[in-house]
Amino acid sequence: MIRFFKNLFVEHCPKCNKELETHKSNLLSSVVVKSCPEQHYQKEYHPAFETYIESDTVS
Ligand SMILES: [Zn+2]
Repeated sequence: MIRFFKNLFVEHCPKCNKELETHKSNLLSSVVVKSCPEQHYQKEYHPAFETYIESDTVS
């Protein structure tokens, strides 16, 4: 559980190692989107499904 929170709040791009920026895409869905400032990497967290969706490209 501690590791889960660490991963959720401090993450870095696998390509350039910059800290990912966190965005709340939608208050209703509460989906959290993290993305590299250089657009290398994007990760979405869906609390309703307890699921991460990772992608190499930022949509
Ligand atoms: Zn990057």
